[in-house]
Amino acid sequence: MKIICIGRNYLDHTIELNNKVPKEPLFFLKPQTSIQPKNHPFFVPDFSNHIEYEVEIVIRINKLGKHIEEKFAHRYFNEIGLGIDFTARDIQNECKKNGLPWEKAKSFDGSAKISSKFINKSIIDIFNLNFSLKKNNLTVQKGNSCDMIFNYDKIISYVSKFCTLKIGDLIFTGTPAGVGKVNAGDILEGYIFDEKVLKVSIK
Ligand code: MG
Repeated sequence: MKIICIGRNYLDHTIELNNKVPKEPLFFLKPQTSIQPKNHPFFVPDFSNHIEYEVEIVIRINKLGKHIEEKFAHRYFNEIGLGIDFTARDIQNECKKNGLPWEKAKSFDGSAKISSKFINKSIIDIFNLNFSLKKNNLTVQKGNSCDMIFNYDKIISYVSKFCTLKIGDLIFTGTPAGVGKVNAGDILEGYIFDEKVLKVSIK
């Protein structure tokens, strides 16, 4: 399986990092080894001095597809969860400055935290989905899926022009404003509506 991540998909976050608003979806990949094992803490890696959290809605692909038309894209996933796209911002900024790929900043071991719970999309309004992240009990990020620049269907259609989507692939759909640094001792908790679906301690 693979993890596809969409960058700059919320206007407020795009502006907070001084990036241009994309005209088409921007995506990058994380390898399977980036998945943080369930109930494991996130260990701050020694190669970065500035790891940031990015809370994101995650969809799980449940059907093989390539060149998927937007109007059929909804048939390719039926569950929604939450994830944290851990990012070595210092390394990413260095890569961006030098016009280099971001993999070192985005694809390291443990950089993809995925909620233990996924919700069947038939019982929620996926286009009006509130989600949030608390750090040490304070809400630091709040988003609603209606604010995505490219919605689920556009993302699936676009990505599948380049990469075949396979059962079990995950798509991180981008983060809203409020990203920030983690330090050892922090506790992060992710919510879909008022339900806590994700928790990770930082070591
Ligand atoms: Mg992200």
